[in-house]
Amino acid sequence: MAIDLVTRAEWGARAPKGSYSSLASTKGVKVHYTGGRVDPAIVDDHKKCVAMVKSIQNFHMDGNGWIDIGYSMVACPHRKVFVGRGPKHLPAANGAGLNSGHYAVLALVGSSGLVKPSDSQLLAILDAIEYLRDKGNAGKEIKGHRDGYSTECPGDQLYAWVKKGSPRPGGGGSTQNPPPSTQVPKWPGRLLKYPPIMQGDDVRKWQAQMKKIGYDIVVDGYYGPKSKAVCVKFQKAEHLDADGIVGPITWKAAFSAKA
Ligand SMILES: [Zn+2]
Ligand SMILES: [Zn+2]
Repeated sequence: MAIDLVTRAEWGARAPKGSYSSLASTKGVKVHYTGGRVDPAIVDDHKKCVAMVKSIQNFHMDGNGWIDIGYSMVACPHRKVFVGRGPKHLPAANGAGLNSGHYAVLALVGSSGLVKPSDSQLLAILDAIEYLRDKGNAGKEIKGHRDGYSTECPGDQLYAWVKKGSPRPGGGGSTQNPPPSTQVPKWPGRLLKYPPIMQGDDVRKWQAQMKKIGYDIVVDGYYGPKSKAVCVKFQKAEHLDADGIVGPITWKAAFSAKA
């Protein structure tokens, strides 16, 4: 799928207050979040994404005194990519001294409200990165703002994805690291949870996998309190919802995890 660009004219960007510094290439891209609250209602209304990007630009220009929005590109939950400063231009969002090394891509998730990027938003980030590689000679690195700079950005959810090698949602492997060699067996189609105790080959299969990747678990085919505790521990380690229920996401994560 081709990138779905939102041009500066389309989002109603203000003209930059000065001329950009040129960049011939970068080592890669740094991923950012907004750092504040993102209204979950943006997911249902792209107009709200546009309003948000405009307000970020205003804040960067009027509050920070920058010539323009600090980001190179902005990825929204509708798999659309806003042109910020764009390729070949020095961004301002990575921190002093760190801007010539990496382009800056903002995802519209924050520290509260909308905190978890959807698959479409992750795809939009990947679209932006591909575009910056294509048009701006961005190198292979995909990092978080917090790499080399003291900040929470891009938040735990997005950073966990970056650390996993920013995998393409829905398969297709990783854009940075080789895909895991393990095959993910099909999710059994029922939620494994407790109480009451559930029993079956699907439980046994999941338990065997958990044991294989290093968890202390008895492979007996019974999903009881001990299995649930292992599940919660695993979900926390993987930054998933720690509900102790093996659903399709937890199942897939278990079989994709490295031993
Ligand atoms: Zn940041
Ligand atoms: Zn949008």
